[in-house]
Amino acid sequence: MRVLVVGGAGYIGSHMVKSLLGAGYDVITFDNLSSGHRNAVLGGAFVEGDLADTECLEQVFKEYQPEAVMHFASYIQVGESVRKPDIYYRNNVTNTLNLLDTMREHGVNKFIFSSTAAVFGEPDYVPINEAHPNRPLNPYGRSKWMIEQVLADYDKAFDFKSVCLRYFNAAGADPDGQLGERHEPETHLIPLILQAASGKRESIQVFGRDYDTPDGTCIRDYIHIVDLCSAHLAALEYLNGGGSSDSFNLGNGSGFSVQEVLDAVQKVSGKTVTVIDGERREGDPARLVADASRARSTLGWKPVFTDLETIVLHAWQWELKQSN
Ligand code: UDP
Repeated sequence: MRVLVVGGAGYIGSHMVKSLLGAGYDVITFDNLSSGHRNAVLGGAFVEGDLADTECLEQVFKEYQPEAVMHFASYIQVGESVRKPDIYYRNNVTNTLNLLDTMREHGVNKFIFSSTAAVFGEPDYVPINEAHPNRPLNPYGRSKWMIEQVLADYDKAFDFKSVCLRYFNAAGADPDGQLGERHEPETHLIPLILQAASGKRESIQVFGRDYDTPDGTCIRDYIHIVDLCSAHLAALEYLNGGGSSDSFNLGNGSGFSVQEVLDAVQKVSGKTVTVIDGERREGDPARLVADASRARSTLGWKPVFTDLETIVLHAWQWELKQSN
């Protein structure tokens, strides 16, 4: 089966390309390389292109005739989305519509979409299941929620089948050491702490220690990138088996605090990290933890690397490779 991976040169996309190739799929990566890296695409065909360029997209569908699409290409920074909602809606919504409509023109109706825990906003309860109300708090979360709603409408009108996977905190790296996280600028907690441990940064700021959690720091659900990819493979098989369109929350189901992540990095790396206690970051809920039981029961998915130290170890091995 031929799978088009849009955004396949990015952090999650590049791990996905590797997983798909390992599972025997033919892969075509489409990426504009605005934040991805060409050398992160370990195999298959590669087309440098932008979803705004519908002619290029059209050409890709004509030439490669994909049978399913996974879509990882989007802007992901919450704070930036508040300052620049125009580019977030254009890229995450308008460009995704270009992709969906090109798929329809070519009779391709299997779509796996990278959604986010940000579609929920401030949670009423944790762990968060799929029944939780959707009240995204920023343009980033709203852009993803808009596409989820578009997909539900496309299913009704066009029999277009999709799975939306709401990631909690994607983390870790390829256990073989070939791939890892390379965001510029880096804003995510684990790579920032690792960079402080390896000496690339002087310190790490903890955004708030006065939350209503056992140690006062925010709790997040870190899901290993390999487990995230295995959920996409399971979702693809689910659609191939005639599964109906749906959305699933994806996380380990166990939360770790910022302080616990700091402790794990220092333990795994053997380095001491300079920590600065900062103010709360706007819009950060105290606890975000997934109830991923539906992904487990419906998709038959089972995360393997649920242990925080293993997640941190794989990311640390990647960080060391980058530093050398
Ligand atoms: N965080 C922090 N310092 C940083 C970056 C993040 O204390 O330099 C905290 C942040 O407040 C949140 C957690 O780490 O509670 C995870 O943040 P990240 O940006 O990695 O992911 P998010 O939860 O925003 O998707």
